[in-house]
Amino acid sequence: MTSEVSQKQIDNAARKAALSIQALMAEVEEGFNDHVRCIVCNYQYKRHIDNKPCIDDDNVKQIVSKSRWRKDRIIK
Ligand SMILES: [Zn+2]
Repeated sequence: MTSEVSQKQIDNAARKAALSIQALMAEVEEGFNDHVRCIVCNYQYKRHIDNKPCIDDDNVKQIVSKSRWRKDRIIK
């Protein structure tokens, strides 16, 4: 019997762990992490609709362009 763990399984687990850490740090550093890039979509946290990173690949948030002069625009 072989119980080899595939590289893909390791990658998936690592990504899941990274996403939970990202979510945790986003709570801890709220307000101080506007320029940090989200590991899901690569946009800065401040570009996200609620200023927090995406949860995972299936829960991607809306990206908005916020401007002091214009109305916020949804980019994607
Ligand atoms: Zn994101």
